[in-house]
Amino acid sequence: MKNKFGIDFDGVISDSRAVKQQIVQEKFGVKIPLDLTGYEAVMKNGFITNDQYQELAVLMYESEIVMETKPVTGAVETIGVLRQSFDITIITSRTQIGVGLAKRWCEINGLKDIGVVGTNRQEKTQALEGFEYFIDDSLKKLIPLIGLVPNLYLFSWPYNADEEVPAGIERVWSWKELGNKLEL
Ligand SMILES: [Mg+2]
Repeated sequence: MKNKFGIDFDGVISDSRAVKQQIVQEKFGVKIPLDLTGYEAVMKNGFITNDQYQELAVLMYESEIVMETKPVTGAVETIGVLRQSFDITIITSRTQIGVGLAKRWCEINGLKDIGVVGTNRQEKTQALEGFEYFIDDSLKKLIPLIGLVPNLYLFSWPYNADEEVPAGIERVWSWKELGNKLEL
């Protein structure tokens, strides 16, 4: 049996930075630098409030605009290789509407027949029971998984570069680096 490998969607497979930047500008009149569009960086810099960010998440991840996001460099190719050795599931915090859009996005972008599980904005601990590997760009999502999932990776961007990564989580800066670590 293949080991189970979980992969977050937004910020790991789909690069939502440009679309997020566009919505924040249109909706709230604030221009966020592309590299600071992650939740932690947005909060730290006070670009918009937490409530506005939640509103952004609904607009962003539950409407057609999210179909315009581009794949993260190397994601589609590396997942294609990973699928030969691992049982891959996308584990996202999106709601069911967002999951449907993610499934469609995967079909269009070269990731056919991949499982997508949504946790409806809740923690991912339950969804990741029995998984050996998980990668996410949110440290907040990874921390509760320490001790539960043996191999945890923080997909890194300038927006999470300042976060201190605790033992049990490893940083990777690209799909290429992850592929090298896993000796694909
Ligand atoms: Mg993410």
